[in-house]
Amino acid sequence: MSAPQTPSVELKPTGQKMPLVGFGLWKVTKSECANTVYNAIKTGYRLFDGACDYGNEKEAGEGFHRAIKDGLVKREDLFITSKLWNTFHAKEHVAELARKQLADYGLEYFDLFLIHFPISLKYVDPATRYPPGWQYDGKEVIQTNVPHAETWAAMEKLVDEGLAKNIGISNFSGGLIIDLLRSARIRPAVLQVEHHPYLQQKELFKFAKLENIAVTAYSSFGPQSYIEIDFPGAKDAIPLFEHETVTKIAKTHKREPAQVLLRWATQRGVAVIPKSNNQKRLEQNLHCCDFDLTEEEMKSFDSLEQGMRMNNPGNYLDRPIYIFA
Ligand code: NAD
Repeated sequence: MSAPQTPSVELKPTGQKMPLVGFGLWKVTKSECANTVYNAIKTGYRLFDGACDYGNEKEAGEGFHRAIKDGLVKREDLFITSKLWNTFHAKEHVAELARKQLADYGLEYFDLFLIHFPISLKYVDPATRYPPGWQYDGKEVIQTNVPHAETWAAMEKLVDEGLAKNIGISNFSGGLIIDLLRSARIRPAVLQVEHHPYLQQKELFKFAKLENIAVTAYSSFGPQSYIEIDFPGAKDAIPLFEHETVTKIAKTHKREPAQVLLRWATQRGVAVIPKSNNQKRLEQNLHCCDFDLTEEEMKSFDSLEQGMRMNNPGNYLDRPIYIFA
């Protein structure tokens, strides 16, 4: 299967184009990460969504550099996203962490750097533990009093210093975005949130559109991603791949249910970042914009809304730590 021309969305603050389909790096093991990234680039992926918390940034960087060295792509063909972890929200730590992450990847700049969660946690020195995770000392989740405005001002400096082309936010609600915009000198380019037919986020997306903030969906297949990490409720939901609304549309278009779920999002202008280690699925996911759902098919998703949020910060307070070695 040849690589498709992936559509993109324009990021308003800079005019830079962000591919609508990318590859997410969460839960990609260190040992497989470099090869997985290299192979995804070879398959046609250009956007990669990483984070300090995923613990695989050095290895993802190896994959980028091998692909560049082999002439598959140039750095400027790639759109690389990473995220600021919760323990680095204080103004004196933001650039320190971004520089460390860039050094891990072996990059000079990020195309997009996001605040991962609107939650600031007690600082953990990277020399002590990296990535730090949620629990301080591996035991309790300890918060600190860093206002989002302080973190955002430090994020803006990353743009001033050329360390990030665009900056954005993840897991922010509408109210928090309004608050952030009050003091923002550089507006957030992207909002990344959980989004699937069981959590459609209509109000939030309407607001983001009004504010010219592009949206990226994570966990486009809903509970699927959370079964392997034993999240409460994930196993009990009807898998979206088996939901009759999805399978019926897939049959009509002779596509896979995964492609229908990704098209439902991208057709609403929402970028997606699915991950797969399986070559066939990797290609399927990338080929999710070369067919269109009818208006009626799009509308048929409305009844699937359940407000089912898997990735909820509150979940982490009483959860064990997951290490993807
Ligand atoms: P995912 O979209 O990667 O999908 C999860 C599951 O679907 C995996 O088990 C995968 O093997 C399977 N899958 C993938 N393609 C398939 C296909 N074509 N057919 C059948 N099964 C398929 O879900 P995710 O990891 O939750 O989210 C994607 C990315 O979003 C992450 O890698 C990460 O980059 C990002 N993310 C961000 C946040 C955040 O807080 N900002 C949270 C979660 C995830």
